[in-house]
Amino acid sequence: MVEHQDTQGGPVPADELARAWDEVVATARRTVAEGLVVGTSGNVSARVGDTVLVTPTGVPYDRLTPDDAVGVDLDGGQVLGSLRPTSELPMHLAVYRTTGARAVVHTHAVHATAVSTLVRELPLIHYMAAALGGAVRVAPYATYGTAELAEHMLDALTDRTACLLQNHGTMAHGTSLAQAYDRTAQLEWMCRVWLTAASVPGLSPTLLTPEQLAEAGERLRGYGQR
Ligand code: 13P
Ligand code: ZN
Repeated sequence: MVEHQDTQGGPVPADELARAWDEVVATARRTVAEGLVVGTSGNVSARVGDTVLVTPTGVPYDRLTPDDAVGVDLDGGQVLGSLRPTSELPMHLAVYRTTGARAVVHTHAVHATAVSTLVRELPLIHYMAAALGGAVRVAPYATYGTAELAEHMLDALTDRTACLLQNHGTMAHGTSLAQAYDRTAQLEWMCRVWLTAASVPGLSPTLLTPEQLAEAGERLRGYGQR
């Protein structure tokens, strides 16, 4: 694997790119294994220096080998590999150009996609929305792979680390693939909770107030081991 420039203009070691590619592939496989994606739907990327490693378009993730690494620069120019990059490159690059994200996960998770067809924002059904920056917005529909979809997504992601894409799926980013994946899974879980609660005939779910969500957000800052 050839060396690439990092953000300071220095070369990114080839073994670092190889490790990151392994992690991209493992994460893409996990989206299928854990039911967030069927077939070649969805896509995954990670940023190493100014190189973005992305899953190739339309290739089953279990067929990807260490030699299939696909890398682009922040303008989308291919700098690594010969397979065509994901069709959703405009969404992935828009996230890297406008945030400090190091990883992006896009899925067609069932409950999240269902919710994206019902509301403009996921109702505040659970405090874990605070872990994603607040109430999760739905980006208005646009054809997959277009700059228009990337624009809608960026709007929906303002002050958030995840959003829904209307009649399409999820987008989440993070400082690592593990974090972007976990945010995706939490979002799918919350959508499932809301759909389940909202489906009980004659009853409608209680929702959190913005104040309750903000309090949970404060507390989440100190969540976990010190
Ligand atoms: P790719 O196979 O091009 O990544 O497309 C899958 C997808 O989810 C498009 O929205
Ligand atoms: Zn998609």
